[in-house]
This record gives sequence, C-alpha cells and structure tokens, in this order.
Amino acid sequence: MTEYTLTRSRRKTLAIHIKTDGAVEVRAPLRLAKSEIERFVKLKSQWIESKQTQISLRQPAELRELPPSKYAPGEFERAASEIIKIWEQRLDVTASFVGFRAMSSRWGSCTSKTRRIRINTALAHCPKECLEYVIVHELAHLRENNHSPNFWKIVAKALPDYKLRQTKLKELAWLLNAQGGK
Ligand SMILES: [Zn+2]
Repeated sequence: MTEYTLTRSRRKTLAIHIKTDGAVEVRAPLRLAKSEIERFVKLKSQWIESKQTQISLRQPAELRELPPSKYAPGEFERAASEIIKIWEQRLDVTASFVGFRAMSSRWGSCTSKTRRIRINTALAHCPKECLEYVIVHELAHLRENNHSPNFWKIVAKALPDYKLRQTKLKELAWLLNAQGGK
C-alpha cells in the first residue's frame, strides 16, 4: 500500500506529486470520494515506486533510506512461501528446505546437492515481481545447477519479462548492504 498525504483544493482533476524526498502527495478535487482517490493511487503505484527508486538513487548509498517493507510483520515469509509452493509445482521441483535471512552479497541461493534454498529478507523491501524472480531463479537451479543457456531458457519460459525484473533488482542492489543491522 502506498502512503501519501492528501491535499484537496478546487481543482478538477486528480494528480500525484512526488516530493524531492520521495514522499507522495495526492492533489484532489474537494468532493472526490476517498475510494476514487484510493483506486487512482493503486493504479499508479508502479509509477510511484519507480519515481521513488529514481529519487533514492540520486542519494549516496549510505544516505539512502531503506524503503519500507511491503509486508506486515511476519507476512513476508508467509507470502514468499506461497509463491515458492506455486513455482515448485509449475517447475516440477521440490526444495528440501527454504530459509530466510539477511545476506549482504546475494538475493538468494540454492545448494542443489541438498536442495536447500535461501531467500534474502531484503526482498521484503523490493517490488513483489523481484521476489518472484529470485524464487524462480533459485528453484530453476534445482533443474539446472548452473547458469547455462538451458538454465536461462527455463527462467525465460517461466517469466518472459525476467530481464526487466533483473534490471530492477540491480537498481536495488544497494539494499543488500543497507539492511545490515536492521
Ligand atoms: Zn543463479
């Protein structure tokens, strides 16, 4: 859910303004229903997120603030486990163990010998499509234990837009270190 401040005035249209610190201001006509405003913000949430990412990237890494978690406390692991279950079925693989922890150098890992998968808890602060990409990537290693063309074929078949998701994750790579101690 996107947090924002609402400013009403005698304007005729809805507009979203992202401030220099990344805060979101919604400007709305005086009498527009709150539900309409909520719907509009939801519709624009991807755009808002990408603007906020752009803004945060202008800051030196050590000054950037960790974006808020996209999940309620305890919800991240549950949500990730659901996605893992779905993709285990689709990819016809089973992990023997799924662990969640903060890692400073990678978004996820897979030990194919023991079929153990680890997911970086920093993904709680990333768009959901990034979490899904990491899950698919690690599960795909249970079928192909390398980064061969065959491996990428499996990933591309599962997520045709995986390169976009990789790009997003690259932009967010600074989070891997930012979360240290948090
Ligand atoms: Zn890999």
